[in-house]
Amino acid sequence: MIFLDAAATTPVRREVLEAMWPYLTGEFGNPSSHHSLGDAAATALAGARAAAAKALGCRSGEVVFTSGGTEADNLAVKGIALARRAADWHLDRVAISAVEHPAVEESARYLQRVHGFAVDVIPVDRFGQVTEEALAEVLGPRTALVSVMYANNEVGTVQPVARLAALARSCGIPFHTDAVQAAGWLPLDTAALGVDALSISGHKLGAPKGNGALFVRGRVRVEPLVHGGGQERGRRSGTENVAGAVALATALTLVRQTAPDPSSGPAADTSSGASSGLAGHVAALRDGFIDAVLSGVPGAILTGHPTERLPSVASFCFPGTSGESVLLELERQGVICSSGSACAAGLDAPSPVLLAMGIEPEVAQTAVRFSFDSTITAPQLQEAAAAVRTAVGSVRSLGV
Ligand code: PLP
Repeated sequence: MIFLDAAATTPVRREVLEAMWPYLTGEFGNPSSHHSLGDAAATALAGARAAAAKALGCRSGEVVFTSGGTEADNLAVKGIALARRAADWHLDRVAISAVEHPAVEESARYLQRVHGFAVDVIPVDRFGQVTEEALAEVLGPRTALVSVMYANNEVGTVQPVARLAALARSCGIPFHTDAVQAAGWLPLDTAALGVDALSISGHKLGAPKGNGALFVRGRVRVEPLVHGGGQERGRRSGTENVAGAVALATALTLVRQTAPDPSSGPAADTSSGASSGLAGHVAALRDGFIDAVLSGVPGAILTGHPTERLPSVASFCFPGTSGESVLLELERQGVICSSGSACAAGLDAPSPVLLAMGIEPEVAQTAVRFSFDSTITAPQLQEAAAAVRTAVGSVRSLGV
């Protein structure tokens, strides 16, 4: 089997499992308990927080551990917008890009439905990018928060986050970015990016599902969404998932050792930030795969930005097919991939991300996403490209 669905999830890395194991077994204490087992858990949690902060270029107190990327996005969008409006009732608008993950989009819609906010949707160009001009159009004196993702989960397009964040902050508006897909591939230095909040998720990085984190800059207030014992400095109550935090911190540290050096350039304005090291190597393999698919499959269309894209994502539309049929055929041939994001997969509706990029609904319905981790090899991708040729050919000839 060739697994080309790493943007959906990744297996747990052995080093991560080994690091978290003690906190699931012998060192199982509750970090709030006042005895030696509790102290050991609290020490482990503090260590995980410090390691995560190092990977994110921030202070330990600016890291909030969560149950994953979805919760981190919810806390950022709802928590920051609600806190700002509580301080100034004029602030009743949020701006999000047209290609956000549902965790951001639905959080904004919740603010609209339940709290009377207006949602300004920032359009994207045909490559899925937000321009500074498009952002400037929607910013106003009532904007409480801007949220634009770092890299898109369906097409891999990387946003010019540093420039967009600078623009929002020049208007005094906090800027959140969903870095769930970017983590592991692009620099996560929150200071260089100039963002006020950034979400990550463990299971995209070789940690187990169900853990993540939100970076929130010290001076930015967040209204908590989960109330209780006041853990995570009151921003997220509930007994901390110590093993999960250790897993996330270990995974972040491991990817940091292979990700591009944040000091090598302006973080988010590089073409996928992947010109060197492992990310550059994977990007070269991705480009070979894209070329093989485009030259081997008549009519195939690459979706997303041709260069400013994650090293790990190649996404296409194959007009004259249905994406779901192609991926079933590919699975028969041993290639596992996705018809879009895992959240959208299985739904009949064309992807809103592709529609926002101006792709016709009937073409959007033929989308297939291939995503890999850094263990991918050239022969695997050659085999996958040959399977794509065959699968698209047979789906077209059967007319399914
Ligand atoms: N944001 C993006 C861009 C994602 O791709 C995902 C997961 O696919 C999430 C948020 C949600 O993260 P989690 O699965 O940890 O809740």
